[in-house]
Amino acid sequence: MSDTITPGPWHACKEGHCPCGMIWAADGNTQIGVVYGPSHAGDGCETGPEFVPRRAEQIANAKLIASAPTMAARIVELEQQLSEFLGEL
Ligand SMILES: [Zn+2]
Repeated sequence: MSDTITPGPWHACKEGHCPCGMIWAADGNTQIGVVYGPSHAGDGCETGPEFVPRRAEQIANAKLIASAPTMAARIVELEQQLSEFLGEL
């Protein structure tokens, strides 16, 4: 998995409390993505302001996205442990 994604851990800028909404890789220079906030939905936005996530939801979304590499690594680790456990039965 690590050869197909930007290596983790990732983190939401300022633990998700920065208005930029950016998600960064461990190197601090690679941008993974952005969870947009209301300040980015201006007039003419195709989705309209009613579809902009609430701030708490935006922070939660950023944290969830940022946790993806850690969760993926943990799943691989658990798969290995389960395989070893089943092999011992
Ligand atoms: Zn920021």
